Amino acid sequence: MAILLKGKEVSARIKDELKEETAKMKTRGINPGLAVIIVGDDPASRVYVNNKKKACEYCGINSYEYALPKETTEAELLKLIDELNNDPKISGILCQLPVPKHIKEQSIINAINPNKDVDAFHPVNVGKIMTGDYDFVPCTPAGVMELIKESGIDVNGKECVVVGRSNIVGKPMSMLLLHKNGTVTICHSHTKNLAEKTKKADILVAAVGIPNFITGDMIKEGAVVIDVGINRIAPKKLVGDVEFESAEKVAAAITPVPGGVGPMTIAMLMKNTLKAAEINN
Ligand code: NAD
Repeated sequence: MAILLKGKEVSARIKDELKEETAKMKTRGINPGLAVIIVGDDPASRVYVNNKKKACEYCGINSYEYALPKETTEAELLKLIDELNNDPKISGILCQLPVPKHIKEQSIINAINPNKDVDAFHPVNVGKIMTGDYDFVPCTPAGVMELIKESGIDVNGKECVVVGRSNIVGKPMSMLLLHKNGTVTICHSHTKNLAEKTKKADILVAAVGIPNFITGDMIKEGAVVIDVGINRIAPKKLVGDVEFESAEKVAAAITPVPGGVGPMTIAMLMKNTLKAAEINN
C-alpha cells in the first residue's frame, strides 16, 4: 500500500506560513493584491477562481475579481490588463484559462507585465525557467516540487518520466525536475510504447487530462506517482489521470485526487503573489 502524499495538509501548512509573511509585509507598508480575471461562465473556471479568492482571503492578500462576459473582445481584455499592469495596488495578475476561442490566449499572456505574471506563463518567465534563474514558477509544477521536497523525496539521479508536454504543466515540470538533477523523459500523445517508458520511472508525473489513463501495470514497483490530472467524471466525482486503485498497490507513494496536487497549486499562487508584491514594491 502506497504512502499518500497529502497535498491538502502540506498546502495548509504553507498557507499558514504565507499568512504570517503577509502580516509582516504589511508592517513594512507592502500590501499584496492579486487581480483575477475570468472571462465567460465556464463552471470549472468559476470553481478555480473562487478557490483562489478564498486562499487570498485566508493569507491576508487582497483579491480583486474582474468577471467579464464571454462576448468580451480581445482589445477590451488587453485594455484591462494594461490598466492592471499600471495599478500600484495590484501585485499579481492572472487570467483564468481557457479564455473564449475568439481571444488569442498567447496575446493575453504576452500582455501581462512579467513582474506581475504570477502564473509564470509570460515568455520572459518561461525563458527564465529554462536557465534556472527565475522569480516565478508555474504554480502546478512548483506545487509538485514542493510536495516532493516536503515528503523527503530526493530527485537527484532519479529516472523521472513526465507524461504530458503542455506549457502549463508538462514542460515546466520537466525543467524543474531537471534542475534538481533528475534524468527526465517527456512523453506525449505521439510517444510510442508509453508503458515501457513509464515503467522505468522512479518518479512518474501524469499530466494528460484523460481519466485513469495510467494504470498499475504501467508503474514500476516502488515508484513515486504524482497525479496532476483533474477530471470530472460525474457531477460530484473527480478522478486523476492515474487509476488510483491499481497504482497504489505498486507505488511507494502517490498523490490522491482530490487533495493532492490541486491544493498545492493554489498555495504556490499565493507564494508567487507575495513574491510579486516584493518585486513591485
Ligand atoms: P493539456 O491538454 O494541455 O496537455 C495534455 C498533454 O497530454 C499533452 O501534452 C498531450 O501530448 C498529452 N497526451 C494526450 N494524450 C496522450 C496519450 N495518449 N499518451 C501520452 N500523452 C498524451 O493538459 P494540461 O493543461 O497539461 O493538464 C493536464 C491535466 O492536469 C488535466 O487533467 C488538467 O485538468 C490537470 N491540471 C491540474 C492542475 C492542478 O492544479 N492539479 C493544474 C493544471 C492542469
